[in-house]
Amino acid sequence: MLEKEQEFDVEKVIENFEALTKDAESVQRETLRRILEDNASAEYLQNLGLHGRTDPDGFKACVPLVTHKDLEPYIQRIIDGEASSFLTGKPITTMSLSSGTTQGKPKFVPWNDELFDTTLQIYQTSFAFRNKEFPIQNGKVLNFIYSSKQFITKGGLIAGTATTNLFRDPRYKSSMKAIQSQCSSPYEVIFGSDFHQSLYCHLLCGLIFREEIQWVGSTFAHSIVHAFRVFEQAWEELCTDIREGVLTNRVTDPSIRAVMEKLLKPDPEEADLIYKKCVGLSNWYGLIPELFPNAKYVYGIMTGSMEPYLKKLRHYAGKLPLVTADYGSSEGWIAANVNPKIPPESATYAVLPQIGYFEFVPLTQIDTTVGLTEVKVGEEYEIVITNPAGLYRYRLGDVVKVMGFHNSTPELKFVRRSSLLLTINIDKNTEKDLQLAVEEAAKLLAKDKAEVVDFTSHVDLSTEPGHYVIFWEISGEASEQVLTQCCNCLDKSFVDAGYVSARKVKWIGDLELRLVRRGTFQKILDHFLELGGAVSQYKTPRCVGPANIGVLQILSDNVVMKYLSNAFN
Ligand code: AMP
Repeated sequence: MLEKEQEFDVEKVIENFEALTKDAESVQRETLRRILEDNASAEYLQNLGLHGRTDPDGFKACVPLVTHKDLEPYIQRIIDGEASSFLTGKPITTMSLSSGTTQGKPKFVPWNDELFDTTLQIYQTSFAFRNKEFPIQNGKVLNFIYSSKQFITKGGLIAGTATTNLFRDPRYKSSMKAIQSQCSSPYEVIFGSDFHQSLYCHLLCGLIFREEIQWVGSTFAHSIVHAFRVFEQAWEELCTDIREGVLTNRVTDPSIRAVMEKLLKPDPEEADLIYKKCVGLSNWYGLIPELFPNAKYVYGIMTGSMEPYLKKLRHYAGKLPLVTADYGSSEGWIAANVNPKIPPESATYAVLPQIGYFEFVPLTQIDTTVGLTEVKVGEEYEIVITNPAGLYRYRLGDVVKVMGFHNSTPELKFVRRSSLLLTINIDKNTEKDLQLAVEEAAKLLAKDKAEVVDFTSHVDLSTEPGHYVIFWEISGEASEQVLTQCCNCLDKSFVDAGYVSARKVKWIGDLELRLVRRGTFQKILDHFLELGGAVSQYKTPRCVGPANIGVLQILSDNVVMKYLSNAFN
């Protein structure tokens, strides 16, 4: 692990990665051995009768594949302080809350120092490759990151989102400094009590240090787009703050105010310059490089459920490259982007064989797993993780496609969450299918110079037969005629054979497009934050089930118009 002030050697990190990936199979065996030895005393492993075996075959024979649901009773006991070393050798003292946007409620997973170490390893690896292609000088980065609160569980464990546990680790600051990712915002802004105030101050700090900013990013692309949408509303207020050297009284958090007051100095010239830049832009195209002339790229996770935000992100980024970040989850990191010049749409992630033990369930043969180096190019798999924090053969619920190999480790394309999103009877539509349908229909909106800000879906079974409901928030004005066409296009764009045949015989009713008021998806984000989530991990729920009453209520309260498809009449 990096110690304070330790230099970061890009060449050495790349050399190390090359060596590890050349020998991925034995590195995987060694990683499994280490995990099983370190945790040999865990009751969970003892109960499974491993009797000290640490080889992949013995492991597969004794330890079952599990989902989060299978582990929930044990995790609950750990949270309650009853069995903190049930899953691991050393007791678990911290829990991560995964965003759980798919299920509508956050899930707890164990967090420990080893996960912190693997996080650094993945950050260092992708930074080394990124810096080879886009070298950055010592400078600052405008990173829209937010820490939610940590809290203490009934059993005395610390709990927070994985990113919160990471940011709040005392080693985080010095480690990130070593890989030249010094945030332009002080920690008080990242740890602020109110997300909206933190975001405003992230923007303000970015502007104060704008010449020094080397890249602009966030954990997920959604937060970058969101930040610049807010900029479009707040830019004049930001200019006023810079002109007068006084922070707007909208920011009330005392620790943020105290630190921002030290940074702000009256600078009318700079304020005028920023003002002119904003006025000179056409519909905010190229805003990021205009404000941050030395930024080399825009950085954050841009694949999977983040793809719908790419269009808007490119608009803000102008000619700056978009670089997707790494692939991981609260359960552990998986793979790094080692080809940063590849656009997000075709990006792949190379698995780090030393950070966990990975198995893959072929989608064509779901009762078996293959090892990391046994996967086949062109095939799709569900990922199974064994990590150093007490998860053994854990089905993550993500589907990936093997696109090639970096030495002997696979390069994965993220395909989708494995759970079906929309299904009524014989139809099967995934998150990806919904995204493609929305993209197709959104093209029609362009005629009216409108765009989809965000979207989600719902299966409505309250009428017979059930039907799909797609919720859109749009910006700009679209005519009735165009929106009716969009609705029909959505219906036609679900090409799954089950859906099409069920629609034809009316086993599935007419698809409904419901437009919601501007700001509805912001309300959904706020709702998620109230539940203890963190913006840094936020992913818009792409399907809202009946259990997600809060979000469903927000959506129905904000519907302004409904359209019914006649595509199959
Ligand atoms: P969370 O545990 O809440 O941080 O969410 C983790 C989930 O986010 C993963 O299981 C993936 O579904 C998704 N995810 C993380 N990284 C990526 C990535 N690079 N591309 C696409 N999806 C990702």
